[in-house]
Amino acid sequence: MSRKYLIAGNWKMNKTATEAVDLVHEINASVGSQNSVQVCVCPPFTSLAKVSELIEQTEVFLGAQNMNAEASGAFTGEVSAEMLRDLYVSFVILGHSERRQLYGETNESINRKVLAAIHNNLKPIYCIGETLEEREAGQTLEVVRSQVRQGLADYPASSVEHLILAYEPVWAIGTGKTATDEMAQEVHADIRVVLSEMFGESAASTVRILYGGSMKPENAAGLLAQPDVDGGLIGGASLTSRAFLGIIEAATTASS
Ligand code: PEP
Repeated sequence: MSRKYLIAGNWKMNKTATEAVDLVHEINASVGSQNSVQVCVCPPFTSLAKVSELIEQTEVFLGAQNMNAEASGAFTGEVSAEMLRDLYVSFVILGHSERRQLYGETNESINRKVLAAIHNNLKPIYCIGETLEEREAGQTLEVVRSQVRQGLADYPASSVEHLILAYEPVWAIGTGKTATDEMAQEVHADIRVVLSEMFGESAASTVRILYGGSMKPENAAGLLAQPDVDGGLIGGASLTSRAFLGIIEAATTASS
């Protein structure tokens, strides 16, 4: 099964809508008309409308960094799946480790968001990954397996091809430490085994599993060469066009 690479930029809480314009113009100019690699930018909510306009005629996709599982109502400060769809958002990052650690999100609460996203035609980018303590205790696969099983409970088998996972070892996020190519492949392959048990081998082979954690142009080629690494979720290196485009270039080379 050949899976198209997805390179997604997680801007986190960076860039005003005004600042977003230059970066998106540079991305559009370089990769806005290619589709050999799928490119997605995930700005803060405040820039979604602006970025949506800027990428309208291009091959660049829009993602959000979070959403609420409820459809509407008294949830001050929250944003629903329907609100995102209205801005032509295609992807939504869910369960990022920063949200798990700083905002108390759990596999169960993220599961509700994953189900709400897919029922509203948003492609979830479901983030999983172990902490340093868990890795050192030899618990990586056990932790990641239960994140996959619990976060994807009741996920509809008919929508598996729209599911994206991002394996992001917590100790590698924003630290400059990257998993080795072999470490990433070991976990990605194991995730695909769990997906096969849940959805069948053929469906599992359609799911893209991204790597995230200090990916940059210098290490992207090695990670993307791994058979079960289908792209990257990029934090720091998505904030400059030079670095982000460098990673997209590595993916383009790897896919040709
Ligand atoms: C992320 O936050 O999803 C991430 C991978 O960050 P960084 O690339 O900066 O490690």
